[in-house]
Amino acid sequence: MAIRIPHGVARAIVDDARAQVPNEACGLIAGDGKTIQSAIPLSNVASSKRSSFSFAPNEQLGALKRLDAKNLVWMGVYHSHPDSAAIPSMADVEGVGDHGLLQLIVSLKNSKPELQLWRIGASSVTPLELIYDTQLDAGFDGTPLSQLQRAAIVAAAIISVILMLAISFTLLPPAPEISPLP
Ligand SMILES: [Zn+2]
Repeated sequence: MAIRIPHGVARAIVDDARAQVPNEACGLIAGDGKTIQSAIPLSNVASSKRSSFSFAPNEQLGALKRLDAKNLVWMGVYHSHPDSAAIPSMADVEGVGDHGLLQLIVSLKNSKPELQLWRIGASSVTPLELIYDTQLDAGFDGTPLSQLQRAAIVAAAIISVILMLAISFTLLPPAPEISPLP
């Protein structure tokens, strides 16, 4: 199963992860069950914030109420690994309360942040595909495409048509020779 995420939401999660360094960032992810449409940062109240995370129950409850009010489905939990890979730790696996929830981990180990989605079941840990959706961004931010973006899309379409024509011409058999009239 692949889950979609708009670039803007992925960026918000990375921003939160960077803001909480050296501690782990954490929060909820919500949407329609197939697309993560929203990320809600929560405070990390774990005693060892650098290597684990824990939500404050009342803060989590408040966030869930807000999701309900927006008709968003609670899809899972995100948290960051400031200096390790985006792979669930033993504590992450053991700490999962609800195996139906998705677990999104953002790693800041390398200069390029890495997001990896997991399903941590009662007896299995499975990576899930995360598809970045650029088209959804416009809808979520409410910002229409700029003139320049529009022009770029039109230009790309024209170029692809020209390329298609050029390729199909090269595939045509050579024209038959016309014999001169007697
Ligand atoms: Zn972790």
